[in-house]
Amino acid sequence: MDLGLRGRRALVFGASRGLGFAVADELAREGARVCAVSRDGGRIEAAAAHLSRHGEPAMALCADLGAPGAARAATARAIQELGGLDILVCNSGGPPKAVFAEVDAAAWSAGFQNLWLSTTDAMAVALPVMIAGGFGRILLVTSVAAKEPMPGLTVSNGLRAGLLGLVKSVAPEVAAQGVTINALLPGYTRTERMTEIGVSDAQVAAQVPMRRMGEPQEFAALAAFLASARAGYITGQAIAVDGGWLRGS
Ligand code: NAD
Repeated sequence: MDLGLRGRRALVFGASRGLGFAVADELAREGARVCAVSRDGGRIEAAAAHLSRHGEPAMALCADLGAPGAARAATARAIQELGGLDILVCNSGGPPKAVFAEVDAAAWSAGFQNLWLSTTDAMAVALPVMIAGGFGRILLVTSVAAKEPMPGLTVSNGLRAGLLGLVKSVAPEVAAQGVTINALLPGYTRTERMTEIGVSDAQVAAQVPMRRMGEPQEFAALAAFLASARAGYITGQAIAVDGGWLRGS
């Protein structure tokens, strides 16, 4: 299936590795012109070089989404460099594990900046450009925890559930202008992060109906489809890629 992504201009946050990189890679493979953002200059340059091997030269932007205003500035810069924007993928690192009693005001603020404000700031800059162009695809990488809270992930559980409300609120406001907004909910997916936090295959096999972790490319395949014109009638949705882990919600 030709997704018609050739020449589309895409901005992907958190794209130096993991899910963000996989989404950027899939979009680049489909012919999109990708601007990849992350906070480590060397790593995002390397990621962009990899993406460029698919044909279209990819652009690297170094920005810390945990810094106020950084997402706004990165989005404006990408729009300038790409000459517009068709696809925005909001993604960042997950907040540290902590039960409620361990989360102080600074941790709430850091999580809010990193997950929430980086998203709403980028959307605020991108939406007028997308509306003017009559086409836009906004994807929020959240988590299955948005629907089924995970023990000890208080900040993530709270903010990601809120982001689903954001998607449901804004999607109808811009639907008639050709812009769709959807949330993607990864379940256990084999990224460097999973290795770092010590999630084992045995643990996943015990919980997930498919008895295995997802691969980042399986997640990216959904993102590429939702980013395409073919997904033009899908908006305001929260779609899990989780091997059947979510059941009741
Ligand atoms: P990851 O840690 O492997 O990658 C995160 C990416 O975001 C990296 O490129 C990193 O450099 C970048 N990043 C992190 N903080 C940043 C910041 N402040 N500014 C700019 N860039 C920043 O994580 P991942 O496994 O790819 O997961 C991506 C998101 O999906 C995370 O929020 C994670 O919590 C969530 N998630 C992942 C899984 C999973 O199984 N992998 C499951 C559920 C939810």
